[in-house]
Amino acid sequence: MRLVKTVKGGYPRKERHLDPVQRYQIFERDQGLCVKCKQPGKEIDHINGSSPDPSNLQLLCRTCHEDKTYRDLAKLETDEEIAIAKAIEQRALAEHPVRLCDDAYMWDKVWRSRMAAIRKFFKGEGWSE
Ligand SMILES: [Zn+2]
Repeated sequence: MRLVKTVKGGYPRKERHLDPVQRYQIFERDQGLCVKCKQPGKEIDHINGSSPDPSNLQLLCRTCHEDKTYRDLAKLETDEEIAIAKAIEQRALAEHPVRLCDDAYMWDKVWRSRMAAIRKFFKGEGWSE
């Protein structure tokens, strides 16, 4: 997820912060269920933009929230594109090698470099790796 957000220019975390009362109100309104699949939901989604108005908030389960985030931020359209993006990100940002063909000897050094580049990007220093 972070990789996609990085590619698309970052995530306005402070703008999107909700206090516990706002979160509780959305949870109650949506009866604790994901509005997409009706499974238990725990994540509050901003439907469009960062407005904290209740009309712009909805309760989602983690799976539906991740799918929506990928779709919105990366302009991915098909389930296959979303699955590929998730797989790439999980592999690239894993703290330890995911596949046997990943270089276990160099992984730690490369992973630290990658995380430093992401932190640098979010500080507004641009992308370099
Ligand atoms: Zn769901």
